[in-house]
Amino acid sequence: MGDPKGFLKYRRQATAYRPVCERVKDYSPVFARRSNKESQEQASRCMDCGTPFCHWGCPIGNYIPEWNDLVFTGQWRNAFELLDQTNNFPEITARICPAQCEYACVLGINDDPVTIRENELAIVERAFEMGFIRLHLLHTRTGKKVAIIGSGPTGLSCASQLNKVGHEVTVFERDDKVGGLLRYGIPDFKLEKWVVDRRVNILTDEGIKFRTGVNVGDDYSASKLLRNFNAICLAGGSRVPRDLNIEGRELKGIYFAMDYLVQANKRVAGETIPHNKLIDASGKKVLVIGGGDTGSDCVGTANRQNASCVVQIELLPKPPECRTDEYPWPSYPMLLKTSTSHEEGAVERKWSVLTKKFIGENGNIKKVLCAEVEFLKIDSKACSEMREVPGSEFEIEADLVILAIGFTQPEKKGLITELELRLDDRGNIKTDNFFMTSKKGIFAAGDMRRGQSLVVWAVSDGRRAAHYIDSYLMGSTCLPDV
Ligand SMILES: Cc1cc2nc3c(=O)[nH]c(=O)nc-3n(C[C@H](O)[C@H](O)[C@H](O)COP(=O)(O)OP(=O)(O)OC[C@H]3O[C@@H](n4cnc5c(N)ncnc54)[C@H](O)[C@@H]3O)c2cc1C
Ligand code: SF4
Repeated sequence: MGDPKGFLKYRRQATAYRPVCERVKDYSPVFARRSNKESQEQASRCMDCGTPFCHWGCPIGNYIPEWNDLVFTGQWRNAFELLDQTNNFPEITARICPAQCEYACVLGINDDPVTIRENELAIVERAFEMGFIRLHLLHTRTGKKVAIIGSGPTGLSCASQLNKVGHEVTVFERDDKVGGLLRYGIPDFKLEKWVVDRRVNILTDEGIKFRTGVNVGDDYSASKLLRNFNAICLAGGSRVPRDLNIEGRELKGIYFAMDYLVQANKRVAGETIPHNKLIDASGKKVLVIGGGDTGSDCVGTANRQNASCVVQIELLPKPPECRTDEYPWPSYPMLLKTSTSHEEGAVERKWSVLTKKFIGENGNIKKVLCAEVEFLKIDSKACSEMREVPGSEFEIEADLVILAIGFTQPEKKGLITELELRLDDRGNIKTDNFFMTSKKGIFAAGDMRRGQSLVVWAVSDGRRAAHYIDSYLMGSTCLPDV
């Protein structure tokens, strides 16, 4: 432990964000990186508490107290090497992870937690700057071929791990570029795409083959896959959007969040969208239905496109701002999240709102009929029943409605159907404890297995799947099961 009194000397330094008036005019990152000296001061706040719950809170088990100590003492290379042992893409999690670790920080019991996520960013970006990042190059290969379907964080972490132990890895991706939701879901103002490209270039240089523009199950049959590869990992994500099948749903101007965000990301990357397919918020009254992170990304994007106003509604009640008895420390609490997108521009947020009807004019969406709801406890357990508050109906004017109400399951058409894979109760691919599906040699990981989740869980799943795939192919493995 570097400085036993660090947490007494320094307050938590809040993330520095660029001024709102500046950042809403562009898609550059909303945050400003802090100096190495500031990171060292912040790392010195880590108490080395003995039982590091932060390590438990992090889904990939990052060695947080250890690298905080190394940062404090200026041992940046060692800090990076430790981080590299557990996280294939720290430069990505360090930008967009909700930092479950920080909610489990022991200092957080009676003070502000250590800025773990930003310390992670400082370590990895310093490693890139100083040339600490080495290519894992191999002279011998095992001769085993593995196909990975999907190039999101799950597929990429699985590929990275399997390549390290000498398998010949091919990643198939149906989009024109690699990255999954990192590229086409998450907006640039949260994660710039050069960060993804920089990592993909490293993976390519290390020997991983990428085949983009190939929709497996359509352009490349599952039977061919089975013939050509010794093992397969399905990492195709969970993208079937939840719909709102109420009166007026057929009106023009109502879109799924991913249709909107994919297009917005492509435009930021310089692609031109044909006019008749363009979804643009410029000058429009935008209503985002769904109060989660995807909805928040739509709010930030709509404000950057100069929407005339943005309203975001959510069916569930407003979450608490501080921990409640339901979510005691060190659990990850369901708290009210005010994202950087919410702080920009005039977004009005409403909770406990039911969407009842889309109302149009000449076939276009004009307004939305809503009502307030309340949740009444119906038993001693946490079960409650939703009831519409009588006489509470109201209308919201909107000429662009974005549905951001979640994703139900992976797409079944194509690969899953052709392989006749067993599914779990929620419609995700069912695997055993070793990540193997109901078909021998075919594994599944990430959102496709666990449902829409987080990047850090995708990385965890990809790494774990690689552990079991290597065991399956070689009889034993040196890859970690995290
Ligand atoms: C808008 C949005 C914002 C988000 N923001 C955050 C955030 O800030 N922080 C965070 O931690 N998480 C965030 N998430 C969640 C996170 O992005 C996902 O949990 C994560 O990307 C899942 O990784 P994955 O690799 O399993 O799937 P995906 O990232 O969905 O990648 C799956 C890939 O498989 C490809 N594919 C599918 N089927 C085939 C096929 N048959 N052939 C070839 N390719 C195929 C798809 O094209 C896709 O590229 C966000 C999600 C969304 C939707
Ligand atoms: S990956 Fe996420 S949970 Fe893990 S240390 Fe980084 S910010 Fe924390």
